[in-house]
Amino acid sequence: MPKLTLKDLDVKSKRVLVRVDFNVPLENGAVANDIRIRAALPTINYLIENQVRVILMSHMGRPKGKRDPKLQMDSVAEVLSRLLGREVKKIDSCVGPEAEKAAASLSEGDILLLENLRFYPEETANDPEFARQLAGLADIYVNDAFGTAHRAHASTAGVAEYLPSAMGFLIEKEVSIMGKALEDPVRPFAAIIGGVKIADKIGVLTNLLEKVDFILIGGGMANTFLKAKGFDMGASVVEEEKLEDALEIIKLAQDRGVELALPVDVVAAGEISPDAERKVVPVDAVPSGMMALDIGPETAEKYAGMISRARTVVWNGPMGVFEEDVFAKGTEAVARAVAEVETSIVGGGDSAAAVEKVGVSDRITHVSTGGGASLEFLEGKVLPGIAALTDK
Ligand code: ADP
Ligand code: MG
Repeated sequence: MPKLTLKDLDVKSKRVLVRVDFNVPLENGAVANDIRIRAALPTINYLIENQVRVILMSHMGRPKGKRDPKLQMDSVAEVLSRLLGREVKKIDSCVGPEAEKAAASLSEGDILLLENLRFYPEETANDPEFARQLAGLADIYVNDAFGTAHRAHASTAGVAEYLPSAMGFLIEKEVSIMGKALEDPVRPFAAIIGGVKIADKIGVLTNLLEKVDFILIGGGMANTFLKAKGFDMGASVVEEEKLEDALEIIKLAQDRGVELALPVDVVAAGEISPDAERKVVPVDAVPSGMMALDIGPETAEKYAGMISRARTVVWNGPMGVFEEDVFAKGTEAVARAVAEVETSIVGGGDSAAAVEKVGVSDRITHVSTGGGASLEFLEGKVLPGIAALTDK
C-alpha cells in the first residue's frame, strides 16, 4: 500500500513530530560521524521553510531502558545546530511536563530535540501509553528514520496510531530507489552478496534470486557455499549448520536459470593480521590451518567483468576482511566495478563503510543509510515503521 509522503500533508505552521535516525557513533562524548544527521537535513529544512514547529526524536546507542549520561543527545543537538545554522533546543526527557511545556512553547521554525528515546523501556516495548504521550506533543507525525524502520517501536510505529502521518524525504528516497530496483529493474540486474552470517542473508538471497539475472557470492558467505559444494576450506569461517541452505540456494538458482558465481581463488592466511603470511590459492587448495579472507585476483577480475555487464546492481556484504588493507583488494575491485554501473545500490553497514574506504561512495547511485532495515527491505519484508504510516 503506498504511503503518504511529507509533501502530501499540509504542515504549514503545525507542530510536527519527526522520528529521525541520529544513532551516531560518539568518541569522547563528541559525534564522530555526522552522516546520519546530514541525511535528515532535507526533511528538517523543508519543515523550517514551512514555518513548522519541529520536534525531533531519536535513539542513540543501547542504553537498555535506563538513563545513561554518556548517551544523552546534547552533542547531537550541537552538531545539528551547527549544520542548520540555528538554535536547536534540547531537553532531558521525551514525555511528561518538561516535554509538554517545551513543545507548547515552540514558535514557528523552532527546533526541539527530545532526549534519547531508549532511556525509556517503553520505547522498544512499543508501549501504547508512551506512544500516545509522544503523539500528544504534536499535530502530525513524520518518520524519517530508515535505519530503524524495521523495528516496531513506540517512536517508529506506535505513535502513528494517534496522528496523521507520512514518510520523510530520506525514507521516501530509500524506498523509491530500492523499490524500483526490486520491482522494475533495468536489466541485466546483478546482486553481489558477501560479508558474514548466511543466517541473516538467506532471505535476501532467496528474494533476490527471483529477480536478478546473475548473483555473485564472496566474503565469508562464499566459504559456506564452497564447503557445501565439497571443497575443503581449511580453517575458514564456515557456517556448518547452513550447508543445506547453501545447497538449496544453488539449486534454486539453477531452477530459475540465474547464474550463481562463486570464487575460483582466494587469499588465505593463518590469522587476520597485516603481517600474516598470505597465499593466493585456488579454492580446491586452501591449506589446512589457513582461512580464506578475501576473494583472489582471478575471482576479482571475473566478478568485475560480470558487474560491468549489469545495468542495475545491488551489493550487500564485503568480499573479504576489508578492514585490513591486505585483505581488501577483492572488495576494492568490486567497489570500483560497481561504481561504473548505471544504477548501483549498496546496503549494509559494513558495505557502506567499504565503499567509503575505497573512495567511490559518491559514484554509487544510492548508499542506503539503513543496515538491518535495508537487508529486510531487500528480503521483500514489510517494514513496520513504514507500514504504520497513513495510506495514500
Ligand atoms: P554488512 O554490514 O554490509 O551487511 P556483514 O556485516 O555481513 O556486512 O559482513 C561484514 C564483515 O564480514 C566484515 O567485518 C568482514 O571483515 C567480514 N568478512 C568478510 N569476508 C570474510 C571472510 N572471508 N572471513 C571472515 N570474515 C569476513
Ligand atoms: Mg555488518
